[in-house]
Amino acid sequence: MTSPATAAPLGHDDVLDAIVKAPQAIATVDAKPSLLGLSRARLADALLAIGVEERQVRMRVNQLWHWMYLRGVDSFDRMTNVSKELRAQLAEAYVVGRPELVTEQISVDGTRKWLFRFPSRGAGKPVEVETVYIPEEGRGTLCVSSQVGCSLTCSFCHTGTQVMVRNLTAEEIVSQVVVARERLGDFPASDKADGILPSEGRLVTNVVMMGMGEPLMNYEAVRDAMQIFADGDGLSLSRRRITLSTSGVVPMIPRIGAETGVMLAISLHAVRDDLRDVLVPINKKYKIAELLEACRNYPGLSNARRITFEYVMLKGVNDSAADARELVRLLRGIPAKINLIPFNAWPGSQYQCPDWDTIEAFAEIVNRAGYASPIRTPRGRDILAACGQLKSASERLKISERLALEAMIGTLPADDED
Ligand code: SAH
Ligand code: SF4
Repeated sequence: MTSPATAAPLGHDDVLDAIVKAPQAIATVDAKPSLLGLSRARLADALLAIGVEERQVRMRVNQLWHWMYLRGVDSFDRMTNVSKELRAQLAEAYVVGRPELVTEQISVDGTRKWLFRFPSRGAGKPVEVETVYIPEEGRGTLCVSSQVGCSLTCSFCHTGTQVMVRNLTAEEIVSQVVVARERLGDFPASDKADGILPSEGRLVTNVVMMGMGEPLMNYEAVRDAMQIFADGDGLSLSRRRITLSTSGVVPMIPRIGAETGVMLAISLHAVRDDLRDVLVPINKKYKIAELLEACRNYPGLSNARRITFEYVMLKGVNDSAADARELVRLLRGIPAKINLIPFNAWPGSQYQCPDWDTIEAFAEIVNRAGYASPIRTPRGRDILAACGQLKSASERLKISERLALEAMIGTLPADDED
């Protein structure tokens, strides 16, 4: 794999040197419905609707998935094992949708950001969403959004201070991954005989639902999208390399585990209910004990498939040695990893990031208790700072949206060992 080295965080000057491209829209938004992002059952319905015979539907669904997800094609013309007649029928009724690509930014360390514009749904306006690709040694992670804005109001998160605009559809979630792979050259060349890209050669190896929004508040679209990510005839990513991060929508946790088998990350951030009620207000509805019980029962949990607990470090709020000890006590018996995230400040935020010694002392207690506790740090923060400098180049993107995504870059969970 050729991903650039990522050891050093970006410095301000590096980021000023970043290339900012505004590629042409790679496809205009079509009025015809898109087949991208449809579950197998819905795709079957779409085929039946244009007269495909019932006994052929299953085979046709497999063919379409193969072309859309394994080969990454964006038009029916290129689906060479589908009869000409059916290709014409498909093109008459549907598209293989692509969002409008507004900007693409490539930083010197290989991190890329795309700003996509999705058409209005119903009465609303078109929305813009950012997707981030982070290459690291031996893997590449795509940070994907599930909503525009967020209805939950976590007090340290800038997205949480903004209005919730709307849920993304499964098509819009899937297309973030498809277009990212297309832009990275991560689909097999069209002349390759079998068209299958070996998994070790891939640039996008991991997907994290850690972009804008709370994925479990957009349950069905997120589930359908993740099933396409994981399906061997879909985007064919290993389930252990797909992570959904939630602030704790407890009733949906067992369901997402059972229906997708993906890895779970929990935005815990506090060890006492009175504090978590303030930091992560959904805690008023689902308390820490209830949340941890859902974690204990998460399907498929084992030492090889641990839950990542995200813990944002807020100066003087949740960063004491007593908090660290309580964190360790609370997680006892749950196969867990702990991800400490130094707070990324945003204009008007009421919190500060603790000093480095405090974070290290906290990490030391957690480590001594036997948990890996990587501190994912300067990279996200440096990109955040740098992005302020790039503001004029991408001013279409609201600062809140940019900040939210950049804050999350620091939270990528490590892979479990195989
Ligand atoms: N809504 C989901 C997923 C997106 S947030 C969730 O809350 O889990 C991804 C991670 O970034 C979460 O752990 C979130 O709490 C954290 N985060 C949000 N704002 C942050 C900030 N300003 N600094 C550091 N981490 C932040
Ligand atoms: Fe929403 Fe997650 Fe931000 Fe909370 S931390 S407001 S759930 S995006």
